[in-house]
Amino acid sequence: MSLERLQGLERSAVMPTYKRLPVEFVRGEGALLWDDEGREYLDLLAGIAVDNAGHCHPDVVAAVTGQVSKLIHVSNLFYTQPGMELASRLSESSLGGLVFLCNSGAEANEAAIKLARRHKPGGNFVVLEGAFHGRTMGALSATPQPEKQAPFAPLVPGFSAVCADVTAITAAVNDETAAVLIEPIQGEGGIYPVPDDVLVAAREACDRHGALLIFDEVQTGAGRTGSLWAYQQTSVVPDAMTIAKGVGAGFPVGALITSASCPTSLVAGDHGSTFAGGPVTAAAALASLGVVAAEDLLTNVKVLGAKLMDGLAQLPGVERVRGRGLMIGADISGDAPAVVLAALQQEALVINATGPSTLRFVPPLVITKAQIDAALERLSRLPLA
Ligand SMILES: *Cc1c(COP(=O)(O)O)cnc(C)c1O
Repeated sequence: MSLERLQGLERSAVMPTYKRLPVEFVRGEGALLWDDEGREYLDLLAGIAVDNAGHCHPDVVAAVTGQVSKLIHVSNLFYTQPGMELASRLSESSLGGLVFLCNSGAEANEAAIKLARRHKPGGNFVVLEGAFHGRTMGALSATPQPEKQAPFAPLVPGFSAVCADVTAITAAVNDETAAVLIEPIQGEGGIYPVPDDVLVAAREACDRHGALLIFDEVQTGAGRTGSLWAYQQTSVVPDAMTIAKGVGAGFPVGALITSASCPTSLVAGDHGSTFAGGPVTAAAALASLGVVAAEDLLTNVKVLGAKLMDGLAQLPGVERVRGRGLMIGADISGDAPAVVLAALQQEALVINATGPSTLRFVPPLVITKAQIDAALERLSRLPLA
């Protein structure tokens, strides 16, 4: 079907919540995508930090096709192996506690919010200014952006936002605080790593007041920053973390994971999800984790991330570069959304803007050095200034 026909269907049938770029992708492999006319694109977005193992990784394809022909769904009223194995794998690779599987980042944060209220009934939440935790009502209440929140008021009560600053966070946490929720690197907000001293201050304030420190690793997780989870490169261990995006290789998998020492768990009847931990999505996640948890891949993420950051910093029009591993933001003097469109159409390069002047780079983690060079070359021809 032609792009024009798809756009016609969109106009007549699709609720207009997304602003799509004018291209139809039909195939992907590694860090490459192809459109319906056979044009090859270099992908530095990875479906928004999702295709961490690369498009259609053979291990993921084999795991999914193997599982899908045997059993697709039976619900959490029964045992299936992939879901149990995934929970175990996630726990032992991270905080060592208990796992609640779900289907998205927002759902993982909803579970985290319920965990915190279970921990301290009636308690409040502290989040950071500029945060993004999702678009369901609880997660939206934790996302202090007036343009996203205002049309849907009243929100869930009990959320307050502070700037990422030691004094501010220390002052904001008190005995009524159930949890502090932080993205170790703010993603949608423009790739802002939260300084280590702020994370330490949050940890100390939570310990002082019996609050949970919860990291939202939905975007930073699954190898994105050069360690399997981003907290592993900070000096802080949270009581719980939420993950999604890169975990399922493109299949809808999210999770709330507690630490071995987390004083609270959700209990029978507290929470649930019909699809969660299903055998096909869990098989995809297990195969994908096998790829992105490999030490040599994680080392490569750090090396290639540094290379991309250096290269970006040298391009005319680039004013600032931030990030860790292959999660990189670049402020430019030019118009970022216009650069994104030009990159797609003129240079067959898939990138994204988190705001009017910030470009985001979150490529598949299997991207090669040669592909990073090619991306920088293509970027150098774009109107960044
Ligand atoms: C994308 C994102 C979410 C929301 O995830 P969905 O799967 O879109 O619900 C939550 N937190 C962070 C940090 C994210 O980047």
